[in-house]
Amino acid sequence: MKTKSYKKDKVNIVTLGCAKNIVDSEVLLTQLRGNEIDTTHESKKDDANIVIINTCGFIENAKQESIDTILRYADARKEGLIDKVYVTGCLSQRYREELAAEIPDVDDWFGTMELPLLLKKFKADYKHELVGERITTTVSHYSYLKIAEGCDRPCSFCAIPLMRGKHISRPIEELVLEARNLVKNGTKELLLIAQDSTYYGLDIYKKRNLAELLNHLADVDGIEWIRLHYAFPAGFPEDILEVMNNRPNICNYLDMPLQHGSSKILKLMRRGTDRTRTEALVAKIREKVPGIAIRTTLIVGHPGEEEEDFSELMDFVESQRFDRLGVFTYSHEENTHSYNMSDDVPEEVKHERASTVMELQEQISGEINQQKIGQSLKVLLDRKEGRHFIGRTEFDSPEVDNEVYIDAEKHFLRVGDFATIKITDATEFDLYGEPTN
Ligand code: SF4
Repeated sequence: MKTKSYKKDKVNIVTLGCAKNIVDSEVLLTQLRGNEIDTTHESKKDDANIVIINTCGFIENAKQESIDTILRYADARKEGLIDKVYVTGCLSQRYREELAAEIPDVDDWFGTMELPLLLKKFKADYKHELVGERITTTVSHYSYLKIAEGCDRPCSFCAIPLMRGKHISRPIEELVLEARNLVKNGTKELLLIAQDSTYYGLDIYKKRNLAELLNHLADVDGIEWIRLHYAFPAGFPEDILEVMNNRPNICNYLDMPLQHGSSKILKLMRRGTDRTRTEALVAKIREKVPGIAIRTTLIVGHPGEEEEDFSELMDFVESQRFDRLGVFTYSHEENTHSYNMSDDVPEEVKHERASTVMELQEQISGEINQQKIGQSLKVLLDRKEGRHFIGRTEFDSPEVDNEVYIDAEKHFLRVGDFATIKITDATEFDLYGEPTN
């Protein structure tokens, strides 16, 4: 068995799952480096002898990806290629005992709230003075800002509260400090994330306080774009719409997972709303913030979803014409409310329904994008790839939404800069254009 000898410990953090996990890994990275422990994130070089895997435990596919990653590093540990493997994050929080029994080559398992315990493995202490500081792992000009942890909602299909606990908002002062520090490190775009961002403040300020937070963040010099993700429809704090309208550096963009368009299924999902109220809210948002791009996420195949419920969902998607839309197939998750129901929609029907929704959305997105031809839009340039500079408008979030392609052989631009781009062509999911100056 060939073993590698390492002069000094070096840690590699591997992140799976959502943007909230990316932030957690960035906080871990900051704390380890703050304790002078040589740490990298997603390093492709094989030079780390300790690996920390930050896992996702949301739905079946994500869980499988996490388990495959753990097994890969557990094998490397068995072969002596690395010295230690630690696992943290949602999958570990949810299935620690079972996993520890099945995969003995992992040195230790940590939950989502056990950073100080994980740091102890490195004889490191949690440095409170680093709160508000964060080494980011995304491209330098945009960063995620996690405004709260956990969730108090009872959505029937969702295991997140089991892994992330109750909703805890972070104080405005702490978030403003973090935003200022991120700007110092080059951030121009802040993506606000939480499990339910519209619940912000109900715990620590005893009121929905997202509007005040948005105003404070919009005051931070250097922040050119603030983007709101994970809004919840029921109890939606409409005062944020006025703030979005009044503050030019808050994107006319809203990510609001709605999950379904049939009142019967929304009731089974325990979403606290129905189709009529959802459509009224969407109409109000579009009236109050003209030109806003709305992204939503839907789930098909929830227990009890019959053909007519699915037709109602299709009718909802057709009538509401969301700018951006993603679909998940229902995943039967233990210990969720839906797990007590029979998972009665066959897998192939779930996937058929998901692709049918996306076919319709492709058409809608194509029509919406065609209307952008001839417009000049502010674009943040994310990267250069092959013969194109690739960026996004304020209507597009990284990784999930449309991109703008500019011919790099004809035009010179700088990644990380904003540029005004005249849109000359469009497809279902991308735009093409050239700089106006
Ligand atoms: S709002 Fe609902 S779907 Fe979202 S994390 Fe909370 S329980 Fe899950």
